[in-house]
Amino acid sequence: MAESDNLALYRLWRPRTFSGMVAQEQVVFPLRQSVIDQKFSHALLFSGTRGTGKTSLAKIFAKAINCLNPDQGDPCNQCEICLAANDGSLMDINEIDAASHNSVDHIRRLTDEIVFTPVKAKYKVYIIDEVHMLSQGAFNALLKTLEEPPAHAVFIMATTEPHRIPATILSRCQHFQFRRIPNSEMIKRLDEIAKSIHLTVTEQALEVMAQLAGGALRDAIGLLDQTRQLRVDTIERDDVLLMAGRVPDEFLSQTARGILEQDPEALLANIQDLVMSGRDLTRFVTDLGGFFRNLLVVRVSQQPQALIQMRDQDIELLRSIARESDASSLTDLIVGLAELSTSLRF
Ligand SMILES: [Zn+2]
Repeated sequence: MAESDNLALYRLWRPRTFSGMVAQEQVVFPLRQSVIDQKFSHALLFSGTRGTGKTSLAKIFAKAINCLNPDQGDPCNQCEICLAANDGSLMDINEIDAASHNSVDHIRRLTDEIVFTPVKAKYKVYIIDEVHMLSQGAFNALLKTLEEPPAHAVFIMATTEPHRIPATILSRCQHFQFRRIPNSEMIKRLDEIAKSIHLTVTEQALEVMAQLAGGALRDAIGLLDQTRQLRVDTIERDDVLLMAGRVPDEFLSQTARGILEQDPEALLANIQDLVMSGRDLTRFVTDLGGFFRNLLVVRVSQQPQALIQMRDQDIELLRSIARESDASSLTDLIVGLAELSTSLRF
């Protein structure tokens, strides 16, 4: 999904307090407590998959430690510090994108100015996004400051790839690990957002948005934002699949049946449709592989519900298709599709 598009809802719903965060309790709770206790590390590392709240939480923390009227550790979002932080005019909270500012000079500039006391706030906060992108020289320059940081300085480094950060830096940071956001939590938030904009979205559509987002709430909200453009009364599961360039479930089950029943005519018609619709073939092959995997699960497992997140009637449908086959043929098909998917990609 394009990063820049469909982010209006995401920005509007970006949490501004610890309480507003979705999931990530393992990180939110200790951070909030550290604000209440006024005891926190001056170098924090946030790691985890994209779209799971790292930058949002960094901004909340930066505000919380500087807020003039915090409530149980939460920033008030009303005092002059919070307001300035929210509109981006607070000089003492700096956000640096290490992907585009990765040189020694960029970091030197930062470490040179960090010695000066904050302009307005209590702490000078540096949020360094994608910190693993820094050059070796830049890391070395940063290390010197991390070894003896001024009392008013706080670094929050965010990364999707913590293994690329030098051990010398890691050892000076308190490390917080972000998890993929569970589908149930994403669905709850998506539902809340949809209702707020009077958008009718079926439960199955919300489910598939969460599934497609793979734990990244930002992507899920982006999908919801995209569905607004469809201008239909009710957003259904297939609408979301089509919009995401995926094929509807019905299409996958027809194709699977065609393969299992060795019905070339039905298959060719399906493939023709697929090609004409301009969908991504590699994606389709991967999805079809996933469909056969689900068939295998219902074929061999007594309790497939525990392994695949699907409604009972959908599992029944899978069962009726899986009856046409056996575990070893299904396994062969899965392996074959995985190989095909790899060869299509490279
Ligand atoms: Zn405040």
